Amino acid sequence: MSAQIISGKEISESIRQEIRTEVQHLQERGIRPGLVVILVGEDPASQVYVRNKAKACEELGYHSEVIRVPADTTREALLALIDQYNADPAIHGILVQLPLPKHIEEKAVIDRIAVAKDVDGFHPVSVGNLMIGDDALLPCTPAGVIEMLRRSGISPAGKHAVVIGRSNIVGKPVSMLLLRENATVTMCHSRTPDLPQVARQADILVVAVGVAKLVKRDWVKPGAVVIDVGMNRLDNGKLAGDVDYEDTVETAGWITPVPGGVGPMTITMLMANTLKACKRAHGID
Ligand code: NAD
Repeated sequence: MSAQIISGKEISESIRQEIRTEVQHLQERGIRPGLVVILVGEDPASQVYVRNKAKACEELGYHSEVIRVPADTTREALLALIDQYNADPAIHGILVQLPLPKHIEEKAVIDRIAVAKDVDGFHPVSVGNLMIGDDALLPCTPAGVIEMLRRSGISPAGKHAVVIGRSNIVGKPVSMLLLRENATVTMCHSRTPDLPQVARQADILVVAVGVAKLVKRDWVKPGAVVIDVGMNRLDNGKLAGDVDYEDTVETAGWITPVPGGVGPMTITMLMANTLKACKRAHGID
């Protein structure tokens, strides 16, 4: 039997509908969530991401600013820009689009963003709060994965979750969130031996590697939930996940497609984080 599709597109739209309602209520009180996206240089992929974020803001009625600065901007100038937005009451979320040009250390930039406005969830304090289990602005893609499970009625509690990939933006935080949801979590990476055998033990398999169609049918336990975070551009221009969808769809119980799976959730969770930061700034819970 073919797996049930977890549509990030549909789930994302229902979250956006909830956000719209909240934004309307806030507007009645004269409050508007505000997000600034700072783009350094002209990386083409980053330009697309930034445009999509601005579009989402517009669509949801947020105040949005896109600041484009040249690739040769100094570290000091960028930090000063962040300070300016840290102090701006109309802005509740600050996102600096990564990657940055080589002469600017990403850590210095991330560390400078006020924790209360850290809607990417990459600041060390946000990461620490996630680790401890305190309330935090969660990184968008991992939060999107958890939300997809929750809204599909899949509880990680007591399940064996296997996460392939240990990056700071996906693998590690998604593992912590699954642990927080009471899954037993195995983290795998490029040095894990016999990966298919480990993956096959998963009730929930989350893949965030960056290798197109790495995960085949024999990596998937029949009936497992397969969450494919990967977004890889193939030579033919098409987008493919880290999971071989055609090969695994008959084995998995649930599966996320690429495109239309985790991808749409990421920007939506960014919008949810900005709303949360805005409400907090106004003492609303
Ligand atoms: P990364 O390169 O930072 O990390 C990749 C991880 O995979 C590493 O921990 C590495 O150890 C592991 N790995 C590499 N090759 C492996 C192999 N052959 N077997 C097992 N593990 C291996 O990547 P990332 O930033 O975490 O992104 C991973 C994928 O997710 C990429 O395709 C990226 O485009 C995608 N992504 C999608 C979204 C989204 O919004 N859907 C967001 C972030 C990343």
